[in-house]
Amino acid sequence: MRVVIVGAGIAGLSCADRLAEAGHAVALFDKGRGPGGRMSTRRAEAGGRALAFDHGAQYFTARDPAFVAAVGEWEAAGVAARWPAAGPDAWVGTPGMNAPVRALAAARAVAWGRRIDRLERDGTGWRVDGEPFDAAVVAVPAEQAAPLLLPHHPAFAALAAAARSQPCWTAMAAFERPLAAPVELLRDRGAIGWAARNSAKPERGGPEAWVVQASPAWSTEHLEDAAEAVTLALLRLLAAELGAPLPAPIHLSAHRWRFARSGGAGGPGTLWDPALRLGACGDWLFAPRVEAAWLSGRRLGDRIAA
Ligand SMILES: Cc1cc2nc3c(=O)[nH]c(=O)nc-3n(C[C@H](O)[C@H](O)[C@H](O)COP(=O)(O)OP(=O)(O)OC[C@H]3O[C@@H](n4cnc5c(N)ncnc54)[C@H](O)[C@@H]3O)c2cc1C
Repeated sequence: MRVVIVGAGIAGLSCADRLAEAGHAVALFDKGRGPGGRMSTRRAEAGGRALAFDHGAQYFTARDPAFVAAVGEWEAAGVAARWPAAGPDAWVGTPGMNAPVRALAAARAVAWGRRIDRLERDGTGWRVDGEPFDAAVVAVPAEQAAPLLLPHHPAFAALAAAARSQPCWTAMAAFERPLAAPVELLRDRGAIGWAARNSAKPERGGPEAWVVQASPAWSTEHLEDAAEAVTLALLRLLAAELGAPLPAPIHLSAHRWRFARSGGAGGPGTLWDPALRLGACGDWLFAPRVEAAWLSGRRLGDRIAA
């Protein structure tokens, strides 16, 4: 079969891997400029020095045996490493969080910068961007999956529409010198959901760089605020938490994730209609984590291959 997958995040790519193993031809379309999805790494420059921030997922855990095996392969390939500061079973992509996604995408036919707004039925098959396929998979966040599924499978679309994600404002800051506080990360400190010294993660280095992520409640309350105001507010909160003023910044930016933490946890894991040859995978069908997204894609690949 020729299978089209809309969305080349970790879920779409793990589905693609499984289908390729089973001998199917897979084409992926992704609206992003490059690999990562919500495991993205934002690159910047300050005074000629390269900066990088993991501004989506901060780390991931591996507990399911199939995912443990995949992470072991990533570690052997040099695209993932343990990050003990976040916990005994915490992993990060190396040298950036998007590295495992980049490695998976390199083995597949991914068309980047291609936003897909509709899937068309073509006889017994599918047509996307003018190309014919035998089966179609939607591997995007729930809110973006619903309109793609609706014309063809209202029941799947209804599940997607019912799964509400929470937003996350993320501030990224680099400083001319290290922060005085001997702190690597903070979790669940009121408005600050998470803050970490990004430059201290494995294989990072470079200037002192921090990522500060607001809690879902704070992000919702400030969703339409300007990025500059959000950046300053989150850095003020960080300084207050650390109990000391921050050094002079050499880079400041912010990113608003409208659909950061997927809702619908504990869902069916995958969706697949064998008659239509239409499926969906992603964290929203399982749990709001990297591992769950990977498993959802893998299991959908199993169902399609079967
Ligand atoms: C701020 C933040 C913090 C997080 N922290 C953690 C954490 O610490 N630990 C953890 O395990 N997880 C964390 N997560 C969640 C984790 O990143 C996700 O669960 C996982 O990456 C989801 O993978 P996915 O493939 O389902 O979706 P995504 O990664 O969102 O991939 C979907 C892809 O589809 C593309 N796309 C969307 N719409 C279209 C369209 N119409 N046409 C074409 N392409 C489209 C997107 O560009 C994207 O690349 C975090 C997420 C965020 C945002």
